Formats: sequence, C-alpha cells, structure tokens
Amino acid sequence: MSIELDILPVKSWLPSIDNPLLIAGPCSLETEEQTLATARELAKDKRVFVFRGGVWKPRTRPGSFEGIGSIGLEWLKRVKEETGLPVATEVANAQHTEECLKAGVDVVWIGARSTGSPFAVQEIADVLKGTDTVVAVKNPMNPDLSLWMGALERLNRVGIRKLVGIHRGFSPFQETKYRNYPGWKTYIELRRSMPNLPIICDPSHIAGRREYLYEISQKAFDMGFDGLIIESHIDPSCALSDKEQQLTPADLSKLLDKLVIRAEHSTNTEYETQLDLLRSRIDSLDTELIELLAARNEIVKQIAMYKKNNNVMALQIDRWTKMMNNRVAAASKMELDTVFIKILFQLIHEDSVRMQTELIDNE
Ligand code: PEP
Ligand code: MN
Repeated sequence: MSIELDILPVKSWLPSIDNPLLIAGPCSLETEEQTLATARELAKDKRVFVFRGGVWKPRTRPGSFEGIGSIGLEWLKRVKEETGLPVATEVANAQHTEECLKAGVDVVWIGARSTGSPFAVQEIADVLKGTDTVVAVKNPMNPDLSLWMGALERLNRVGIRKLVGIHRGFSPFQETKYRNYPGWKTYIELRRSMPNLPIICDPSHIAGRREYLYEISQKAFDMGFDGLIIESHIDPSCALSDKEQQLTPADLSKLLDKLVIRAEHSTNTEYETQLDLLRSRIDSLDTELIELLAARNEIVKQIAMYKKNNNVMALQIDRWTKMMNNRVAAASKMELDTVFIKILFQLIHEDSVRMQTELIDNE
C-alpha cells in the first residue's frame, strides 16, 4: 500500500537546489579548524548544497571517538556564516534536538541506530513539532521497511513537511564486499510505498572504503535516488572516525565529475522498440527459469520419498557443501557473480530442504 506524505518538494526549502541533492562533510566534527577548512573547500564546489558533520557519534562499541559534543554546534554556526551553506547534524534524543534548534541547525538526521527505536524517534519528533526543520531519516540497521516508514510517519504526523529518506545499507547479515549490505530492494519498496518522499543514498556508509564510492554512487543514480550524502574530510588519513571511507573535498569533486545522471524514460521510439524486444527475451528466459525450477522440484520430491523409505534425514551437510562448491565454480567459469550465485543456491537449497522435511514428516 502506498502512502502520500504531506510534504514539500526539496526545491521549496532549498531554492538554490539544482538536482541532485548533495550533502557533504566529515563523518565527525573534530576541531574548529578541521570543520572550517573542510567546509571552505566543499563550498567551492557548487554541487554541494548542505554541509554535514556529526557532533554526537553513535558508536557501535564504546571506547572510540564519541563526538565532540555541543561545541560542534558553534562550529556549524560559523560554517553557515562563512560559506552560506545550510548545515546538518545527527540527533539521537530530545536534548540533542533542542540544542540543534537553539543553534539554528538547518537539517537534522536520525541515524540508523535510532530509526529502529520508536521511543527515540517519537521524542525527537515531539521536540521538532511546530518547527520547520528539515529532517532526514536513515534506514534502520536491519532491513525493516516498517520501522523506516514508521519513523518518517511519526515526523510527518507532528507536522514536519521537509522530509528526506537516507538509504545507508544494512548490518551485513549476508556476505558483501561492502561495510554494509546495500539491500537495494528495501529502497525500492520505500520508493513504492512513499512515492513523494525524496530519497538520497549514503554511499560512504554502504561502502566503508573509498574505492567503492564511485560504483555505489553511480548505481544510486541509475536507480533514481534524488541525491547523495557523502563523507568528506580535509585530511581523511587523520580522521577520528570512518577514515577509510572519507574523501578529500578535491576527490569528492572528481567523483562528482565522473557520475552520470540518466533519465528514467525516453521518448525515442527506436529505443522503445528495442527495449520491448529485449524485455520480451528476458520474459521468456524467466519463464524457462521457472519451468526449470518446477522440474527440479519434481526431482526433490522423488529424493524425499527415497529418504523417507530408507529412514534418512532431509539434510546432508557434506552433500550441501559439495553442491555449493560445484555451483559456485561453474558460475565463476560463466563469469557470474559468485556472491549472487551463493545467495541464490542458498535459497534454492533451503526451499528444497523445507519441501523434503514436509514430505518426510507428513506422508
Ligand atoms: C554517520 O552518518 O556518520 C553515521 C553514524 O551514520 P549511520 O547512522 O548511517 O551509521
Ligand atoms: Mn560516519
């Protein structure tokens, strides 16, 4: 079911915007010099519309840099005065939010660890009620669409009309080369569920490493994201948090130069005919895949009956390991993505074991 949020388009609260919405700045504000030096450089690139910097840092484990605290809000004020850029920081509770309102912070974001906590979101929403702050909501750590939507709804219900979703990937519950599992399908579901919500991508927290920022950012644009929030630090090698994933402002500009923003549709009729042709081939290949899976299921049923008649259990781990190694090797020869093939065969095998246990136990 899709929900029409009562929100304003980005252009109405950020008149200088020229697509896409780009937010950039350090993971954490560390010193006044680092904050201002980074902001001054970023402001030179007119594609950057908002300056970000974490002041209170939610660290997964204690003992690392937990943020500079309220003094950072003073530095954000200076960034605003000097560069004219609106400023953004993360809030995780009512007190952070009150301090941000007092300091004139333009954009607050709710971090991934807080979105999953409806109490935290509600207390933030209660403080924001009656203000016209821009609020961005990161996805929760786990791919739970309802929690993400719930947080956005709580804010919308107290009258926040300048809302943005941020997709930053999920705790890596599945194998991925990135720091966080991209889980694009949850983004697609949010897009379908809240069609008028602007959604931007956070390639920095998905990637975890600089070298993957370009591929993730380009993919984000290819999937219709409305912008990016990227971490940029004047000297990433000395950053107190997330040093592996931050870019210098100059490298950020280079990355932006390389990105291509494409249209969602084209009116060129030759393009449409060709696309229809290719899509019909995909449709028939997918039909064949489904027929193959059905044929496979028939054999799974026979295997289940043999096992039952011989009083053998449904799962044989050694067979499973051999089968997986063999499928991955075969897929690799065909230049298929081996992570994808692993996930696909895990699903196929899981379903086959489910069928076998049902048949063995119930007939
Ligand atoms: C951040 O933006 O620096 C941050 C802590 O992000 P997340 O909540 O996505 O982990
Ligand atoms: Mn960070």
